[in-house]
Amino acid sequence: MKNWTKQEIADVYNQPLLELLYQAATVHRKYNDPREVQISKLVSIKTDGCPEDCGYCPQAARYHTDINGNSLMSVEEVKGHAQEAKDMGSSRVCMGAAWRNVKDDSDFDQVLEMVKSVNQMDMEVCCTLGMLTESQAKRLADAGLYAYNHNLDTSEEYYKEVISTRGYEDRLQTIENARKAKLTVCSGGIIGMGEKDEDRISMLYTYSLMKPQPESVPINALVAVEGTPMEDQKPVPIWDMIRMIATTRIVLEHSAVRLSAGRTEMSEEGQALCFMAGANSIFAGEKLLTTPNPEFNNDLALFEKLGLVPMKAYKKGDKPKINEDYKKAPEKKEKIKWSRPAHIIDRNEKAKKKPKVSRIGFEPRKVSSVKEL
Ligand code: SF4
Repeated sequence: MKNWTKQEIADVYNQPLLELLYQAATVHRKYNDPREVQISKLVSIKTDGCPEDCGYCPQAARYHTDINGNSLMSVEEVKGHAQEAKDMGSSRVCMGAAWRNVKDDSDFDQVLEMVKSVNQMDMEVCCTLGMLTESQAKRLADAGLYAYNHNLDTSEEYYKEVISTRGYEDRLQTIENARKAKLTVCSGGIIGMGEKDEDRISMLYTYSLMKPQPESVPINALVAVEGTPMEDQKPVPIWDMIRMIATTRIVLEHSAVRLSAGRTEMSEEGQALCFMAGANSIFAGEKLLTTPNPEFNNDLALFEKLGLVPMKAYKKGDKPKINEDYKKAPEKKEKIKWSRPAHIIDRNEKAKKKPKVSRIGFEPRKVSSVKEL
């Protein structure tokens, strides 16, 4: 595996676009079947009321967006969503909860049951639940979890402009905890948050240094939601998305590159170029956590046009075996030392003070306070 320097990644990223596309498509063909694209289903198992202040996120309790929150879903509901997705060709389910970090409580026990149930449906199971200790990662692995998602989002330098309630090192620590439990890692970024090209390059450099590199790298285009600090960000040009996906494919040649949020703003031609550039996964279903996403049927029609086929589960790894030890909570709680930098981010502060979005028939959402979570 090549040891990249930041300058080398910058040279790849800054090439003339068609040269970059050609190079990425060549790498893609070396390691993947370019006709296969994995369809993943994202299920928001607990929506809204998050105590963190991520500047892009409508689920942060402190911003006044109009999303509908829900408490933790039942195992049966999750199974229903998974089955529906499987029937449409999906082979992976990612369950997301708007938490700062996982706690050893009954909600976590319920998530473990969800993981086990979806594993038994022969689908790859991924979770994104916030920061995670090593023993929690181990219980998830025992319950049959295939991957843990924890995004670095952007470069370490720009992260401070996006989030003040935790530090970059917390992200890296959680990824390491997942690794210690032998989970595969899903970790990627968001473009269009006001970052520079150097930040995108720097994030890819960080991923390239990981040993092993993440098996899965979602690349998201910011969906600017009203009420969030980033509500005024302009949509990311499709060319930036193609450039970022192509560079990710070249630098992280063995990773699955996931074309994630922002697809509703992309033309079919734009998405086709992303597949050409090496994207080998999409998230399907009408919503991506809380933001709009193309419908399953539209995606299947696009697959038909482009001659793509849905990838089967466990193409790049074995199905995790379930170990009933997942039911045992740790006797001694691990010491948690997640940071809380609490520096001031002006746009986050401004969004916090904005009046609530008012709509006819819209009921103010219920949110949990920071203390409750
Ligand atoms: S931690 Fe997740 S759910 Fe919470 S505000 Fe950040 S992105 Fe949103």
